[in-house]
Amino acid sequence: MIKSIKGTRDILPDEVGAWHRVEQAAHQLFSRYGYREIRTPIFEETQLFARGIGADTDIVAKEMYTFPDRDEEKTSLTLRPEATAGIVRAVIEHNLYQTDPALKVYALGPMFRRERPQKGRYRQFHQVDVEAFGMERPSIDVEIIQLALDYLRACGLTESQLILNSVGDAKCRPAYVETLRSALRAHKDRLCADCQRRTETNPLRVLDCKVPEDQAIIESLPKISDHLCAECRDHFAEVRRELGLLEIPYELSHRLVRGLDYYTRTTFEVTSAALGAQNSVLGGGRYDGLVRDLGGPDLSGIGFALGMERLVMLIPPGPQESRCDAFLAVLVPRAFDRALLIQHDLREAGVRVLVDHEARGLKSQMKKADKLGARYVAIMGEDELADDVWTVRDMTTSTQERVSDVKLAEYIEEKMRGRDAG
Ligand code: ATP
Ligand code: MG
Repeated sequence: MIKSIKGTRDILPDEVGAWHRVEQAAHQLFSRYGYREIRTPIFEETQLFARGIGADTDIVAKEMYTFPDRDEEKTSLTLRPEATAGIVRAVIEHNLYQTDPALKVYALGPMFRRERPQKGRYRQFHQVDVEAFGMERPSIDVEIIQLALDYLRACGLTESQLILNSVGDAKCRPAYVETLRSALRAHKDRLCADCQRRTETNPLRVLDCKVPEDQAIIESLPKISDHLCAECRDHFAEVRRELGLLEIPYELSHRLVRGLDYYTRTTFEVTSAALGAQNSVLGGGRYDGLVRDLGGPDLSGIGFALGMERLVMLIPPGPQESRCDAFLAVLVPRAFDRALLIQHDLREAGVRVLVDHEARGLKSQMKKADKLGARYVAIMGEDELADDVWTVRDMTTSTQERVSDVKLAEYIEEKMRGRDAG
């Protein structure tokens, strides 16, 4: 038997209600903040991610699904591991920044990373991604953080923590990275193998290390907050002031550097203890150099990405929806034609209808109707057929009424409206 690929998941019909809810909440809430949806391809040229995310990152070094295209030029393609690079490419390719006076976009969809599968970590997973371009002031940092928190609340997540840091910019970070590298070299023999390598290739990444033995050393390292330039310091101070103004609680963490190279200044993450080991629900920050690095104008950017599997795990499951409002039970073959005709009228009237295509006796059909959560069952046997009526049984009150065939759609629609109003 062929099974699904390790690290992928089927979202089955019983679970899909929660996905619809978080998708609907995104469309509704993001538009209130002026964001519009953008949909970009699932695969892109490999070099887009190599340049956009950074060659020394775990994503690019170890996790990408990369394959040659079947062409002469030997194009290398990659399944997108994150959304920002593709969105930035589209923004540049279509000059969106020239025509859109408030370039705010969001995207929903699958991402692909070859990680070790475990709870909350998959090889195909889904993200909600939000990006704003061309806005430099700290107030957009704060607005986007507020959007992220509003979204979690709208989805029904009640418990979460906001973590905040600033990682400086092209002016002050290089010097800090050197300071960090020197400090790390002094401890080199006592660090894990990964951190020994990162000391040379990407020292910031050491701050992300989870190996218990390394933690005491990492806590003693120089902090970026003591090495920010005046502009980055001012920017961060204003972000914090405005968060205070809006009464948004947060924790500072000098170790929040995020997994991608392109971040500048504000970085943030929202975690939830309920998730266990994979506790990060969303992460984001400012990336002022990225658009230029990918061949576009000098346009600032800020955004976040949220893991939809993790969000769905965290929110209340919601009621199991009934599958139909009305079920048509047909007891004689000739009545089936009436069912075929009437079911379409009912659906046009907005009623969710199911008919038993196998039509195997009243008892089995009533059982099916009950299982499907039908509010009304309309029955047509020999007698009803002769009088051109349906016997309509209200499944909650167990009462029955005879309703003429031509009036059935109207009758059920009215009953449902009365119920919804009551
Ligand atoms: P983590 O620290 O858990 O590896 P990350 O820093 O790699 O997360 P990002 O690249 O910032 O995560 O992606 C944003 C969000 O996407 C994460 O907060 C998480 O909710 C989700 N996410 C990332 N990788 C996976 C994965 N392999 N499976 C499921 N969700 C994921
Ligand atoms: Mg990761």
